[in-house]
Amino acid sequence: MKQSSTSSTTPVYTLSVAADLSGIAVHSIRQYIDKGLIIPFKKVSCRNLFSEVDIIRLKYIHKLLEKDGLNIAGIKSLLALIPCWKIRQCSETDREKCQAYICETNPCWEASEKGTLCRNTNCRECEVYRSVENYTDLKSFIKTIIK
Ligand code: SF4
Repeated sequence: MKQSSTSSTTPVYTLSVAADLSGIAVHSIRQYIDKGLIIPFKKVSCRNLFSEVDIIRLKYIHKLLEKDGLNIAGIKSLLALIPCWKIRQCSETDREKCQAYICETNPCWEASEKGTLCRNTNCRECEVYRSVENYTDLKSFIKTIIK
């Protein structure tokens, strides 16, 4: 099932407000950030800010953990399956050197070495990172991965 794509991407909510809006504890959100499941907007002061779209992402992650029975490693492996090289049409040469293409356990935005196309891209804005925001259930999301 696809979600509405009209939610704002403007980062306006502090961590505590994001916790209130999502119904997820602050320490859990911090854990999702530490594990690379969500990339908040960082202010110059290093404080995190969240958008409406981030709130949707937080709820989706929480649902995968609490209702679908996945753990954090399982979610990361699932996100690692997104064929970013296909979506972004990376060249064969770039793929050979890219950790996002090689690594099976971490999502591409956590890769230490990225292809030229990704090096100057803000992952938070990238369609690959944002792909989970459009889905409310695991099956629909998996369908996008294997299509
Ligand atoms: S820009 Fe970031 S999120 Fe997008 S494909 Fe590259 S590493 Fe992944």
